[in-house]
Amino acid sequence: MKIKRIAVYQVDLPLREGSYRWSGGKSVCVFDSTVVKVETDEGLEGWGEACPLGPFYLPAYAAGVRAGIAELGPHLIGANPLELEKLNWRMDAALKGHPYVKSALDMACWDLLGKASGLPVCTLLGGRYGADFVLYRAISQVPPHEMAENVAGYRGEGYRRFQLKVGGDPNEDIARIKAVAGVLEPGDKLVADANTGWLMHEAMRVVHAVRDIDVYIEQPCLTYEECLSVRRHTDLPFVLDEVVDSLSMLIRAKNDMAMDVVNIKISKLGGLTRAKQARDFCASQGIAMTLEDSWGGDIVTAAIAHLAHSTPTELLFTATDFNSYGTVRLADGAPERRNGRLAASQEPGLGVTPRIDVLGAPVLLVN
Ligand code: MG
Repeated sequence: MKIKRIAVYQVDLPLREGSYRWSGGKSVCVFDSTVVKVETDEGLEGWGEACPLGPFYLPAYAAGVRAGIAELGPHLIGANPLELEKLNWRMDAALKGHPYVKSALDMACWDLLGKASGLPVCTLLGGRYGADFVLYRAISQVPPHEMAENVAGYRGEGYRRFQLKVGGDPNEDIARIKAVAGVLEPGDKLVADANTGWLMHEAMRVVHAVRDIDVYIEQPCLTYEECLSVRRHTDLPFVLDEVVDSLSMLIRAKNDMAMDVVNIKISKLGGLTRAKQARDFCASQGIAMTLEDSWGGDIVTAAIAHLAHSTPTELLFTATDFNSYGTVRLADGAPERRNGRLAASQEPGLGVTPRIDVLGAPVLLVN
């Protein structure tokens, strides 16, 4: 099987809540997602998606996905999409870095591998653990009492794990964590994700002020070294995210005992192939994981579901159902949340059928 053509689509994904806000005053109202169709000489088609969290979260931006595919795509014409490792070597040889550009292409080739073999991607990624897996809800940054109300509301929808967007004014963040902790019930889990937003002295004040609360602290500061310093001064369970953007950073952080949980995002690592590599390393080392992506619609949510569902249950801290945050459904067959949990499709591949009327005409064709 050979890649014959790559079609690229652009889709706007507005948010149900109207906006999504996190550290440093950053916010997005409409996410700009890129959907990729990889066509083969045998008639099979594979689908992938990449959606940066705006242009100011990771070194990634929406138009960059498409510019990168225009650059990289021609190198993939004629390649066998089923040879995933080889395909990734080819992508890395043709374009240095830019993992988020490679993510949708790699994802589409996993979809093809599933369709060609008649197996769900979940099976190909290692096997399905249990009937479903646990999700968290990200709580957009608003005043403390509103975040507590939003947590209570999403709790009513079945979520039991909540990730607060903090990383703002430390006094207000302390109030946010305390207000939300007050509405939780036994068995709930709370994460305060600063998304690199605190300076070290601010992070130290927050972890000291909430030291008696059952809360995880995620990515408090900008650099790895700053986070490591905070980690070494707190007893609270600790999550790293933005700074763990490669297998080598993961190994370094593991050797430093720099985290209790790591956040693995598909496009941050460069696709399902690299995310699987990181996931398997973590599983072998007993490191719990949040498995997700920077953002996305139905195709990203399906890919997350296959990755999360093929992860040993005790090592999966949590995962995300991005398709429930937005108002636009861009594919049929994507997994739907039930009682705060999600399950990967049993269909071959990712199990999604994109809605052509939503995708519109391709914005780019590579052949
Ligand atoms: Mg995070």
